[in-house]
Amino acid sequence: MKTIGILGGMPAASTQLYDQELCRLTQVRLGGLHSPDLLIRSLDFTPIEALQIQGDWDQAGQILNHEARALKRGRAEMLILATNTMHKLVQPMMQGVSIPLLHIADATAGAIVAAGKSRPGLMATAFTMGQSFYTNALRAVDLVPVVPEQSDRDSTHRIIYEELCKGVVMEESRQAYVNIAGRLAENGADSLILGCTEVGMLLDQDNVDMPVFDTTLIHCAAALDLAMQGQGTS
Ligand code: GLU
Repeated sequence: MKTIGILGGMPAASTQLYDQELCRLTQVRLGGLHSPDLLIRSLDFTPIEALQIQGDWDQAGQILNHEARALKRGRAEMLILATNTMHKLVQPMMQGVSIPLLHIADATAGAIVAAGKSRPGLMATAFTMGQSFYTNALRAVDLVPVVPEQSDRDSTHRIIYEELCKGVVMEESRQAYVNIAGRLAENGADSLILGCTEVGMLLDQDNVDMPVFDTTLIHCAAALDLAMQGQGTS
């Protein structure tokens, strides 16, 4: 199995979900005492979030590039970036880094197309919902993303940063998210992308009435596929 470099800490709760899911899936696939071959770099999210707020994406890109290079030097053979939002910066991040990056939006878009869905609702940070870096990756395979109306975008974003990023799960926020997902369905969504790596803490297939695509779970499964390629097990 290839060594998977995880660039995480955005936030720490997300890195924990990735570690947990990659370990769980490896057990399911390989059994025994198998566990994934991981190299985890978990950043402090506070300075990263400050750069997001300041709009200093250049500086954030330099940090990601520095860390991607460090993961490569640490013998990672492929990389995953454990946040949807920071995929805005995959180009600067991967500059001069000669190992593959598995893009979270590409993996998610592939899963949606394979399921025969075409109008995914998108619940994510304001950056991911409002900027083109993510929705363009969906449109590239002819998907038509449906984003929440402004007030629903605001609450989706607020709950991510004020609660989920801190590992806080509140039932009233779960209900708010269920309601937002319902309004996306009314606006024509035929499926739902949990487009922030922590949204699965509140929503899943049990409380959403349309097919759910959890980017964290999809990304982990695709990463293991790639890491195990040529190993004869999938
Ligand atoms: N983990 C989140 C995401 O998937 C949000 C935190 C961040 O801005 O990186 O977008």
